Amino acid sequence: MVTPKELPHLCRALKAPALLAAVERLGERARSDGWSHEEYLAACLEREVAARQAHGGEARIKAARFPAHKTLEDFDFEFQRSLQRDLVAHLGTLTFIAARENVLLLGPPGTGKTHLATGLGIRACQAGYRVAFATALAWVARLAEAHQAGRLQAELQRLGRVPLLIIDEVGYIPFEAEAANLFFQLVAARYERASLIVTSNQPFGRWGEVFGDATVAAAMIDRLVHHAHLLSLKGDSYRLKDRDLGRLPREDAP
Ligand code: ADP
Ligand code: MG
Repeated sequence: MVTPKELPHLCRALKAPALLAAVERLGERARSDGWSHEEYLAACLEREVAARQAHGGEARIKAARFPAHKTLEDFDFEFQRSLQRDLVAHLGTLTFIAARENVLLLGPPGTGKTHLATGLGIRACQAGYRVAFATALAWVARLAEAHQAGRLQAELQRLGRVPLLIIDEVGYIPFEAEAANLFFQLVAARYERASLIVTSNQPFGRWGEVFGDATVAAAMIDRLVHHAHLLSLKGDSYRLKDRDLGRLPREDAP
């Protein structure tokens, strides 16, 4: 049986290349396995939908601007023993995004905070969610620019439509008062509306110093933690795991 000659034209008109590629082979399967017309149509459409979703995932991953491609599958739970594997697996199901909850990753440098944040972000992209990743400093710079142009509220509203924002590295560099205020507005705008993943090398007790104001810090922590999954990472830096740790200078060495 030959494929009707209008099929390639129709598939091109629909911009459905995966459908075109599958149509003939699925036709043969349908005939040999006795599929109904509806079953055949469903199989064809499924092929195109799967191809588009996979492709959309890649496009969303690119748009999210992750610093590196790190997945949850690459994460070594044997090395990071302070983490409950099933908690991360649960977060990987992404129900926290539908519930508009936050994920807070706290711990010293090299313990896998950015890796886990990225891994969850990539999962979200693959599941069809839009994601945007940047460091705390980069987010603040972006908001400051919007503020100067008189469109801060519009920018916050636009970001509100992105279901997952990742704010990496809160606390490495203390904020000026203006930056702390902008950061607070971002957190407040998303509170109970859309998810955040925040990573920090500083425990909450030190956020007063990070934001230069204990009251602002407390108000922010309050909103971040209210509906949140808190992951505290401990241990040595993964970056140093293959080095001879005995020869590294101690922190209190001169
Ligand atoms: P942090 O953001 O906490 O400073 P990163 O997530 O950037 O740390 O981790 C530093 C490097 O070590 C990255 O290349 C990351 O992929 C890797 N890494 C950290 N922890 C693990 C782990 N448990 N399993 C696999 N790779 C890890
Ligand atoms: Mg990091």
